Amino acid sequence: MSNIGACKRIAIFFYNEKVKRLVELLRNTYEVEYIAEDNHFLWGKKPNQLTVVSIAKVFQLYINKKIDKVVIPWKNSMIQGQNLYCYLLKYGFEESDVLYAPYRSIFDKNLSDKDRINLINIYNMKDELECLDIIISNSCDIKCKNCSLFTGLAGDNNFADFEISKVALRKIKSIYSRIDEIHITGGEPFLNPDLSKYCRIIREFFPKTKIFIDTNGVVLKTLQMDDCSFLLQYDIVLKVAYFPEYDGAIDKLHIKLDRWGIRHQIRHEKYYFEKYYDFAGKRDINDAFFHCKKRFRKLVLYENELFPCYTPFALRNAERLIPLQISDKSTMDLFEKQNVSNKDVWQSLNKSSEYCRFCYDSLVSWKNLKDEEKRDKKNWSV
Ligand code: SF4
Repeated sequence: MSNIGACKRIAIFFYNEKVKRLVELLRNTYEVEYIAEDNHFLWGKKPNQLTVVSIAKVFQLYINKKIDKVVIPWKNSMIQGQNLYCYLLKYGFEESDVLYAPYRSIFDKNLSDKDRINLINIYNMKDELECLDIIISNSCDIKCKNCSLFTGLAGDNNFADFEISKVALRKIKSIYSRIDEIHITGGEPFLNPDLSKYCRIIREFFPKTKIFIDTNGVVLKTLQMDDCSFLLQYDIVLKVAYFPEYDGAIDKLHIKLDRWGIRHQIRHEKYYFEKYYDFAGKRDINDAFFHCKKRFRKLVLYENELFPCYTPFALRNAERLIPLQISDKSTMDLFEKQNVSNKDVWQSLNKSSEYCRFCYDSLVSWKNLKDEEKRDKKNWSV
């Protein structure tokens, strides 16, 4: 029997080309009747005898036992800026009823249909990662006011240890069969003298992964073409921050990188920063975790530690200024045991931690207001 189990009725997220392939594959064995879609222009459409429904409707279908399971296909895992799997569990799906269809189940033509179906498994067994961020520098040369990572407090030449990071990356390679994107980030990665070594080993370990370097571009202005040859050699794409205050600098950099053939993307203009934390640390950690939209957008690696979000990294820098007294430092130490599985990663990171109580979040659950509650100011948007 396949990992889908004895269930019959399935809904799939979202309506796109890869999902059409998956529907064709599953239809021979299962009743695939619904496609869940957040684009309301598609709701009610009936492509190939399927019905396109809203996400909320999928919850109703599940609660009313009109569907047994849902399938999240490769790279369809975000909804409204948050992790779709976390969203489904938050509002009522059982872990065992959320399945994941990996890349090969959709695209590997060398496999039989049966083998492709057998690759579909419960989501928390997923061994593919869409995005890994590896932080290689605590230090930054711009030192923005309100930096959400507090890198201005980290001092100069504060870098991740290359040898530790290398062993950790090798371990990550043994856990995940596929990683779509790796972002080398910081702080400012170009300050780290080992940057080209990081690019070399990441390309060696993950030959097919898209590799990006997130940079503010300041160091790049003074570099010569030879200094940047490793970017071409290891097929790296730069993501350059755009601070309009540095008038004209980004245009010159863009021309220079184009001339050298270095692939790059300029990010949206940065006029403001968001504030993410409240150092009073009074939030209920379970409530913060429940409402959290930031966890598992990507995994974050710093040396041998994995995080489900940037908060542990940021608050460690913040603690150089303000003692936050975080007692439970729960992150995942990749070196703690010999063999680490994707399930281990999920289990150790998918839980609230002491860090959550510092996360400022303005979200509250929807409820009707009763007449007698109207005079209580905490029931209003304050
Ligand atoms: S610390 Fe907790 S609440 Fe904050 S972003 Fe991470 S998982 Fe979410």
